[in-house]
Amino acid sequence: MTSAATSTTDRWDAVIIGAGMGGMSAAARLTAAGRRVLLLEKSGHLGGRCSHRERDGVRVTTGAIMIPMAAHNATREPFDLLGVLLEMIELTGRMRYRLQHGDFDQATAGGGLRGLIAFAFNGDEAGAAKLFDAFIAAMKTVPSDDHTFKDWLDRETPNAEVKNLFQGFCAALMGTNLHEIPAGEFFRFMRYSSRGSRFGMAPAGNGANMEALAAAIEARGSKVLRHAVCNRIVVEDGRATGVVVKVAGEDERFIPAEVVISNTGPVRTIELAGGREHFADPAYLARLDASPHEAPIFHISFITDKPLIEGFDGCMVFGNTRNLIYLEIPSLISPGVSPPGQVLHTAFGAPSDAATADLKAELQNTLAELEANFPGQLAGARFIVNARHSGQSPGMHRWAGHMMPVTTPIPNLFNVGDGCTPPGTIGTEGAAGSAREVVRLLEQGKSPC
Ligand SMILES: Cc1cc2nc3c(=O)[nH]c(=O)nc-3n(C[C@H](O)[C@H](O)[C@H](O)COP(=O)(O)OP(=O)(O)OC[C@H]3O[C@@H](n4cnc5c(N)ncnc54)[C@H](O)[C@@H]3O)c2cc1C
Repeated sequence: MTSAATSTTDRWDAVIIGAGMGGMSAAARLTAAGRRVLLLEKSGHLGGRCSHRERDGVRVTTGAIMIPMAAHNATREPFDLLGVLLEMIELTGRMRYRLQHGDFDQATAGGGLRGLIAFAFNGDEAGAAKLFDAFIAAMKTVPSDDHTFKDWLDRETPNAEVKNLFQGFCAALMGTNLHEIPAGEFFRFMRYSSRGSRFGMAPAGNGANMEALAAAIEARGSKVLRHAVCNRIVVEDGRATGVVVKVAGEDERFIPAEVVISNTGPVRTIELAGGREHFADPAYLARLDASPHEAPIFHISFITDKPLIEGFDGCMVFGNTRNLIYLEIPSLISPGVSPPGQVLHTAFGAPSDAATADLKAELQNTLAELEANFPGQLAGARFIVNARHSGQSPGMHRWAGHMMPVTTPIPNLFNVGDGCTPPGTIGTEGAAGSAREVVRLLEQGKSPC
């Protein structure tokens, strides 16, 4: 049986496997550049870990909640290129940091990074000024990646609260712990983020933005195929010639392609392409093996009848905890995400070490730390999500600063997604940035698309 939507005789400039942020961005950019692409998504939903689900009338994220939205952001550009509105409620600056000695409200206290550092130093003005100057210098002349950001901080100050602050900051905003991020990458991230950074939350859910983008992609002649599982990337004579796909209700079939772009993560891409023998570049495999670090994350979403925090509708970052890193109350930002009287909260946690053996215990501790921070307030809570993200659906496929390139040893096979983000970027911005990089290479004629 062949599909009404595509047949083996269809020719595509590129086949993209996976409709996460990376795959959707690549499809949108190539379509805007006049290419015809086929985007395959194994589920019925678009956006992967940047989507949402409706559960008992509550709109809950599949992962990302804080999305970069400035005009220069890689997440935003594909929408602008196709004239699609990226619907967001802006949260820029609405950050609250909790340390042992109190809360710091960026929006009201102001001062940006300088104010935040001064708060952590808690009255030691000379210490704060010295560290702030060191940050500015390191953003100009980025330090080496040979040591971690924790090593760098240890050299600059013995202050424990500063380290607690930046542990929370790194885990919440970069998806990786203080002791896991190379120092250089931390400051590249700071530099990238300082360029007019804006971020927000999608009021109708991330999936709604992805659906709008998909409609525009299809209106320009490309195709988005759901319930379409890529079972194999076919490699012949050192090149990718197409993919073997199983669409629900149809026979498995081969779809030829000039270029194959995988949004399944660098490790899964190798498996789909028949294994490591097709990736016969020792340097590539050595880089993959040198830091086989995925970054797991915990997601807890729950309903209470009153918000845990009164009078604050931004993002709370925790520096007084081991695992709990982040809390947002989406119902306060956009009341339509939950029925009246049901307040949706979304908390994230990170394992204290990405390579931890016991994710289950650390998820339980995330919950315990939530209760400790809001004593008695979770008593009647109804939990909607209590998830450990690892394996094929981690917080990020690789640690910040340990990314794979978007190119592979197979010349017309590329990766997009959060396993191969450009320097200084992570998460949705990094995944979208990887697509920007792939399309730039293709448009420069580095591949036959
Ligand atoms: C709990 C959590 C919270 C997060 N919070 C934030 C945040 O606030 N801000 C932020 O920027 N980032 C955040 N992130 C990270 C962000 O969600 C991810 O980095 C980003 O969405 C990953 O995009 P991706 O392009 O790698 O694709 P993915 O989201 O991994 O999507 C890949 C897609 O490919 C499909 N697929 C896989 N295999 C196949 C196959 N064989 N055939 C067909 N389709 C296939 C999958 O179904 C999926 O839809 C968070 C992540 C998690 C888990």
